[in-house]
Amino acid sequence: MTTDDEKRSPLAASHQIQRLRAEQFSNILRHTQGVMLANICNASVFIAASWDRPYRARALVWGALVIGMAAFVYLRRRTPRPPRAAGGPSRRGVIRAGLYAAALGSCWGALPLLFLEDATVGGKLLIACLCSGMLGGGAIVMASLPSAAIAFSGPIVLGSLLALLRAGDRDYYLTIIVLLVYSAVLLRAVWNYADALEQRIRTQVEAEAKASARLDRLHASGLQALGGMASGLAHEIVQPLAAASNYVEASRRLLRNGAADAAPAVERNLQAAAQQIVHAGEIIARLREFLLEGKPALAPVSLRGLIEETCSVNRPALEKAEADLQLRLDAAQDTVQADRVQIMQVLSNLLRNAVDAMAEAGERHVTIACHNEDHTVRVDVADSGTGVAEGVRDRLFEPFMTTKPRGMGVGLAMCRTIIEAHGGRIWMEPNAAGGSTFSFVLPCEPRQG
Ligand code: ADP
Repeated sequence: MTTDDEKRSPLAASHQIQRLRAEQFSNILRHTQGVMLANICNASVFIAASWDRPYRARALVWGALVIGMAAFVYLRRRTPRPPRAAGGPSRRGVIRAGLYAAALGSCWGALPLLFLEDATVGGKLLIACLCSGMLGGGAIVMASLPSAAIAFSGPIVLGSLLALLRAGDRDYYLTIIVLLVYSAVLLRAVWNYADALEQRIRTQVEAEAKASARLDRLHASGLQALGGMASGLAHEIVQPLAAASNYVEASRRLLRNGAADAAPAVERNLQAAAQQIVHAGEIIARLREFLLEGKPALAPVSLRGLIEETCSVNRPALEKAEADLQLRLDAAQDTVQADRVQIMQVLSNLLRNAVDAMAEAGERHVTIACHNEDHTVRVDVADSGTGVAEGVRDRLFEPFMTTKPRGMGVGLAMCRTIIEAHGGRIWMEPNAAGGSTFSFVLPCEPRQG
């Protein structure tokens, strides 16, 4: 059992009891009116049969009692009542059902005790029929609630046994054996039925609890994925938007200074700002497609071209960090089947991480190399920064792993997701002269489909 299930179990157990009770009750309630009519009808038959017998008065009193009680239960059942609050039938309801059953069962148990001795052969036969009918019918109808079934059948069996014993006849003794066999069979049937009902309810409640736990987990993981995606999105578009804002700010400064030759520089800056904004828009559009389709949109792309484009997009960040960038793009075959915006995101991430890692370094060099290795194109982004901290190395590509005060730790996790979705691999190696190199490979043969 999982921890979740353990936490849920007391709740599930009480829910199980409520459901079981509700089912037991609905089974009994379905038959209540029919059974009460049978009580009224059978008692009336006995009164009619006793009409010309010496025990007529006794029979009338007995019949009035049975009919009165059955009519009361019948009418109580017919009276519409407000629906119960959540929680199903109460314990008091179970006790009340047991009491009604015991009261009526006692009346039928009293029948042989009161009349068997004085009855004619026909009367004895009628009493035997009435008692066995009520015994079997009551047990079957109340089988879902064994306490009520026993409360009803028990007095009938007891009354019949006492009356038969009192008669002291051999045939009556043999009838006792038959009665005991019937009672045992009925009792066993009631037990089996109640047990099967309980099992069914338990299985149902457990299945429902599991389904609801699964839904909860799905919901939670969906939210987590959404949260991760939102952080990733924020992380990706913050950079181009920040760069665009820098370009616009620089243009504003140029215009404010009112230099006569400012126009070409302002135009260049505004063009670069527009390029960054378009790039941010592309990231959102690509992420949206990725979410909807769940896989990258592949097309033949030149990795060298992508590297150059990424460097141009990130030029302001490199200049601001006073980092020197070298490109060694030697791959003879650099065409890969890739989603260009996603691979640009990977390159941008690695480049920005390199710049961040060199913030405290005296020398700031970034080298991006690209060459062929077997049937792949390999890209290395090397920096002269502080290197990856010792404890971080094994968890570098895990989501939300960050050592930066304002970092989100989603960049490298996203890089790995993207590279692996392209059939490639990404890893990190420390440089001998300090700093680190992040490398990835992508298959450079055009892939089918
Ligand atoms: P973030 O940049 O938001 O921290 P990343 O997933 O991109 O998230 O990086 C995770 C962590 O990996 C960083 O916080 C940093 O500790 C480490 N890291 C990534 N790139 C480098 C690098 N070039 N040099 C040193 N450490 C790095």
